[in-house]
Amino acid sequence: MKYAYCASCDEVSVLSNLEPERCHRCQKKAVPLRVRRPWQHWVASGVILAGAVIVFVTDLPSIALRFGLLLPFIVFGLFFSAWGLRESKQKALKAGRARAVEEG
Ligand SMILES: [Zn+2]
Repeated sequence: MKYAYCASCDEVSVLSNLEPERCHRCQKKAVPLRVRRPWQHWVASGVILAGAVIVFVTDLPSIALRFGLLLPFIVFGLFFSAWGLRESKQKALKAGRARAVEEG
């Protein structure tokens, strides 16, 4: 995943690694930005991993119970994941604006 800033829309597009750096809104060329993964990303991964380990260790007899046990971990993980994405976009936006100012 990567981020690209479009100066004409003042917006950050979240792109997959293989996508060309273009603005999602106007399709113009956008500036790629490197943003470090936020701490929320690691919390999200950790929470989901912990959930998987707990389900594995408890070895519940039914699939429904296993899923029921895992669900809160997934919800929690997704919550942090979404939070991290929002934070990263915010950082990318700032970095993009700063660069736009530098380049005039
Ligand atoms: Zn644009």
